[in-house]
Amino acid sequence: MALREATRTCSDMSKLSKRGAFFESVSRYFDEALPHTGVEPGLAAQVRACNAVYRLRFPVRDDDGKVMVVEAFRAEHSFHRFPTKGGIRFSRSVALNETVALAALMTYKCAIVGVPFGGAKGGVRINPSTASEGLRERVIRRYTAELIRKNFIGPDIDVPAPDYGTGEKEMGWIADTYKDLCMNKADVYACVTGKPLGMQGIPGRASATGRGVYFGLRTVLEVAEDMRALGLAPGMGGKRVIVQGLGNVGFHAARLMQEEGGAVVVGIAEREGGIHHPDGLDVEAVWRHRRETGSILHFPGAENVEDGARLLEYPCDILVPAALENQITAANAERIQARIVGEGANGPVDFEAEEILRRRGIFVVPDIFLNAGGVTVSYFEWLKNKAGVSFDRMMSRHEELLKEELIGKVEELVGRRLEAEQRLRLIRGPGEEELVRAALEQTMVLAFQKIRRIWKEEKLPSLRTAAFVLGIRRVGESYRHHGIFP
Ligand code: NAD
Repeated sequence: MALREATRTCSDMSKLSKRGAFFESVSRYFDEALPHTGVEPGLAAQVRACNAVYRLRFPVRDDDGKVMVVEAFRAEHSFHRFPTKGGIRFSRSVALNETVALAALMTYKCAIVGVPFGGAKGGVRINPSTASEGLRERVIRRYTAELIRKNFIGPDIDVPAPDYGTGEKEMGWIADTYKDLCMNKADVYACVTGKPLGMQGIPGRASATGRGVYFGLRTVLEVAEDMRALGLAPGMGGKRVIVQGLGNVGFHAARLMQEEGGAVVVGIAEREGGIHHPDGLDVEAVWRHRRETGSILHFPGAENVEDGARLLEYPCDILVPAALENQITAANAERIQARIVGEGANGPVDFEAEEILRRRGIFVVPDIFLNAGGVTVSYFEWLKNKAGVSFDRMMSRHEELLKEELIGKVEELVGRRLEAEQRLRLIRGPGEEELVRAALEQTMVLAFQKIRRIWKEEKLPSLRTAAFVLGIRRVGESYRHHGIFP
């Protein structure tokens, strides 16, 4: 039933779908960066090539008992490192070249944040907003079984994660299917990340991409020199933010920018339209309102914006498109009023729009850096599943004893004992979630410093070019060790 299309190169993928614009954009970003990398043509061709694609169609029974045929893909972009890693998307418009482009972004993203994986991506053509839970479960279990049959999933092979239209539940069903069919492996749960906590997930994964967006933008906003050039005061406090997409990435990014960063979220755009309030919207309250009423519209006190896409053009300091690709194109780039565009989604600004925004002095913080928080925390989850033990458990007792001794000595020296609660907090140290959060923060800060340095020192046209340069160089470097390239 499954049709396999394993291929050594995907350079002609753009012909296979109407949704070629996104694939085209990623290719052009690559081409723009390549001359600055110092990577020679043969090696560059390998860095660019998508290494394997699995295209499949399988039957699933719909809720009414009728059989439907579902089309799906899995692209493994780069075998310079194993496993490959990348989300699975549920969407009506999933296409082969879109999946390949997303897998390529994963390769460079992993390299930028120092996650030792190749990039991958999966796509399943179903509508996530109308499919029942039962249908979603049947589809994802069958998709997993098909991936197992062709060796396109496994803790050391290819490790999926959530993406647009999927979440914890789908990842749990993947883990469960894999466990049933490959039960003789101790590390079965490392076959997928973004799982529920009860299935060896990791605390903080659900919000990791949004939190990474928040940490990334906060770091960008702290650079006084760059902010001066944009006519902005440094820091996130008081900045007006508009977010597109109140899903996993957009919701957590907006919530954290508001709660922890002190930003004012003045607009939220969703599929059904947008809402705007110049004094700010309570993001959590909007989320609850949508859950209760099925829509963000008619949120008390806010102005409804019938066409959500129009909200992207409203005045603000930071615009965070966190829904889908190709949202800012040559058609609307001239009307964007934000000073900073932070790409929460993959590919929301296309190549032509980027040039327009650059000319207009609007600073774009690219997806391959800004939304890398998800794969960073997925890496921590994978490590934990491979080791079969959580981070705090591995370290805690030994560290507690050392800290107890140290605190005791300090107390003796100063002649005063700490309060019991304070003492306990210092001795216990951070829990798993705090460890994950701190490591994510450090990852985002260091990655930004690295790409900013390349951008400035090598006088590159944009932060995106610098990010691609770093990603391509690191992947190229890794291929050199394979011995094929000099
Ligand atoms: P999601 O399904 O949780 O949320 C997407 C939201 O966007 C939904 O609420 C949907 O209704 C909304 N939306 C769809 N079309 C829209 C439109 N035209 N205008 C406004 N809103 C619209 O998906 P997600 O996981 O948040 O992913 C969003 C983007 O972030 C995707 O590009 C994805 O590839 C990228 N991303 C996700 C992760 C992750 O960990 N989930 C990691 C990295 C990148």
